[in-house]
Amino acid sequence: MSEARMPVIFSGHGSPMLALEDTEVTKGLQAVGREVVEKFGKPKAILAVSAHWFTHGTFVQTDENPRQVYDMYGFPDELYAFEYPVKGCPELGKRVEELLGDKVSVNNSWGIDHGTWTVLCHMFPKADIPVVQLSVDADISVEEIYELGTLLAPLREEGYLVFASGNVVHNLYRVEWDNPDGSPQAVSFNTRVIDDVKTRKDDAVMHYENYPEHAYAVPTPDHYLPLIYMLGAAKNEEPRVFNNHSELGSISMTGFAFGM
Ligand code: ZN
Repeated sequence: MSEARMPVIFSGHGSPMLALEDTEVTKGLQAVGREVVEKFGKPKAILAVSAHWFTHGTFVQTDENPRQVYDMYGFPDELYAFEYPVKGCPELGKRVEELLGDKVSVNNSWGIDHGTWTVLCHMFPKADIPVVQLSVDADISVEEIYELGTLLAPLREEGYLVFASGNVVHNLYRVEWDNPDGSPQAVSFNTRVIDDVKTRKDDAVMHYENYPEHAYAVPTPDHYLPLIYMLGAAKNEEPRVFNNHSELGSISMTGFAFGM
């Protein structure tokens, strides 16, 4: 079991309140996490690319005990009391250094942020799988991001789960608080991306600026780019789509599981 090639997973995260929710989306995340463990065995550790570690340069963590980062403002106290006490995995951090060479630097100033813990707390609720974050590099091209993803692919043969958290559609300026679904623009953009990821038109997905709704769906690239790393790590593999759901008008929770 542990020799099986681990899948690659991209998940939407939306509002940090996700951590405390019990919805179809959280049930979808739980089901994906259970399936990973059933089919492939418990991952040795998780490499998590988080939209909320958006940096100048590519960074990876080697901290044995990373802190949980509460990088959100104005939420109820119970969210700040919520703990997802995972360990780090220095071996995985070092392995990422080997694979990416001078394209990455170690940086332990951050920790496990809400992009990661609000999703993994549902997928792997026991918090017993170590997590290492990789930052999203604001300064490199989508081609370079894709290339980093391909360089990370060998981790899958070594028992590591390659994971990313962001959103296909993420526009906080256009949130409609009373809308439980997606706006027409959100649904349209989300559908285009799903179709192109499923048929592996990677170039179209990478150059999202050619989609008509891009200015609405991706006003800033931080939440979209984590998906591009996953495309590289799962080259040519057709994904399964989960949580195909948009909410608050301008947020899509869509996830992709490759190699499952
Ligand atoms: Zn976010």
